[in-house]
Amino acid sequence: MSRKARLLIIEDEQAIRTGLVDVFVFHGYEVDFAEEGNDGLRKALTGKYDLLLLDIMLPGINGYDICEAIREQDKEQAIIMLTAKSGDEDIIHGLALGADDYVAKPFSIAQLVLRVQAVLRRSRLLDREGHEISLRLPELAAGTIDTRNLLGNLYGKEVQFTRREVDILQYLHEHTDRPVSRDELLNKVWGYAKNLDLETRTVDIHIAKLRRKIERDPKHPRFLITVRGGGYRLVSV
Ligand code: CA
Repeated sequence: MSRKARLLIIEDEQAIRTGLVDVFVFHGYEVDFAEEGNDGLRKALTGKYDLLLLDIMLPGINGYDICEAIREQDKEQAIIMLTAKSGDEDIIHGLALGADDYVAKPFSIAQLVLRVQAVLRRSRLLDREGHEISLRLPELAAGTIDTRNLLGNLYGKEVQFTRREVDILQYLHEHTDRPVSRDELLNKVWGYAKNLDLETRTVDIHIAKLRRKIERDPKHPRFLITVRGGGYRLVSV
């Protein structure tokens, strides 16, 4: 039997923390927790966890700073943010710092469990062998993105990507010129089951972040374009 997946839950609200610990233990995970930010960050950096559930508003260091500090050292650590803040900017900020996904409080435990399972499954869905994606950028010579160290060379500049951003680009790149729906991306890149009927803006927010990195004019994308009826298409030039 494979080993239990290890979770670290960083959450200061006792009722939520205890509830989450119970649920994930029940689902067969090995669960550790921290009640405040400093302890959470220390554990996250020293323990070996398969996934972190990270609250944003915490005593000590907040969840954004924890996420950023972890990403500086570990680009692959799976992180789902738990946010009471449902404003777009808060969510965008968390995802920009490299979280894989977010759930807004109050969240459904069943949904959260599905998302955790999906994020843990994701690495099996994608070819994570290091190689280079060559992007033929409009009006310019080709740019490249190294899928192992997540560094791009675009428009003559070095650009740092997150793992999730590279996974999205890699998937779209493998299906260049074909429209790819949000559901397909959630299924293939995030590992969510089909027809889960997720209410999430994760895909759109990630696409917006990607455009800021790969488009010369992100407001008028020429490369990563929105398809009518929902979805995205990577254009070959
Ligand atoms: Ca909190």
